Parts: sequence; C-alpha cells; structure tokens
Amino acid sequence: MGFIYLVAFGGVEERVLLADAVNVKEIFELEVRVAHAGEPPPEAYDPKRGQYRASVLLEALSRVSFPDMVRLVGLVDVDLYEEGLNFVFGEAQYGGKYAVVSTYRLKDADERRYFERVFKETNHELGHTFGLKHCPDPYCVMSFSNSLAEVDRKSRDFCPNCRRKLDYVLSYYR
Ligand SMILES: [Zn+2]
Ligand SMILES: [Zn+2]
Repeated sequence: MGFIYLVAFGGVEERVLLADAVNVKEIFELEVRVAHAGEPPPEAYDPKRGQYRASVLLEALSRVSFPDMVRLVGLVDVDLYEEGLNFVFGEAQYGGKYAVVSTYRLKDADERRYFERVFKETNHELGHTFGLKHCPDPYCVMSFSNSLAEVDRKSRDFCPNCRRKLDYVLSYYR
C-alpha cells in the first residue's frame, strides 16, 4: 500500500491542491498525501525565456523520495517549456515515478473549469508514469493536448482501453 504524493510549489493555491487530491484518489483509487514546498528549484529557471524547463524540474523533483511513495506529482504555478516546444502543460517520466504539472496556462475566471483542467493534466501525466501513451480517443484523458480547447474537450478519466491497461498496473499497488 502506497501513496501518491501531490506537492505544491510556490503560489499554487491550497484549494486546487486539495481538490486535485480528491480527484487523484477517485480516479486512481490510491491514497493521496499532499505537501507544500517552497519556490520551484531555481536551476530549472531559464532567464532568457522567463520559463522553467520541465525536464530539469523533474530531475530536481526526483531527489525527493518517501518510502511509501508510489508516485510524486509536483504542482507549480510557473510557466514550463521543453526543448523544441514553446510551452508544456506538464511532463512526466514515462514509466517512472515523477511528474510535474503547471497551473500557469490553465487558469480561468471560472474556478470549476480551472480545477477541471488541473485534474486532467494531473491524471494525464500520472497516466504516463504508469506506462500509458497518448490515446487517439479525444475524450480520453490520455489524448494529447497542446491547447486549452483540447484540454477542455477531454474528460478527466481514462477510456475503457486505457483504463484496462492502467488497472493492470495499479493492481500491483493496491
Ligand atoms: Zn502526454
Ligand atoms: Zn484512452
């Protein structure tokens, strides 16, 4: 029995952190622990771009580990990019233990919509850590999205096909 850790950095709101914890518990059926950290690791900051590089952030995150940790998702409110991409909503170690999600581009005046977007990106990146790839079903949370319209279109849950694969991997941790 292990936990999925959600760690909020910097100015990520307590409300979204707690709501996301409920979301993860519902979708992955694993217990969740939340934690707060300080500012995101400064070595990930690129002053030329004014953004943080997701892969460097992931590397810094992976220095943190807990014995009962199944996965760790860092929630940040800074803008993320990756080599060759203007921005990313998040990034994960495929089949690894660490993922990061940025709330920066997900904000909306409608709090429910904002929260839903954070849930979707969290579940998507966690899906990658559990070995899931991008899914052609546009409503599946594993469908690829690089616009808010695509994020809003998909659901926060997995299609039956991805769910089957996920449950197979998750059975190991339950
Ligand atoms: Zn993805
Ligand atoms: Zn799917």
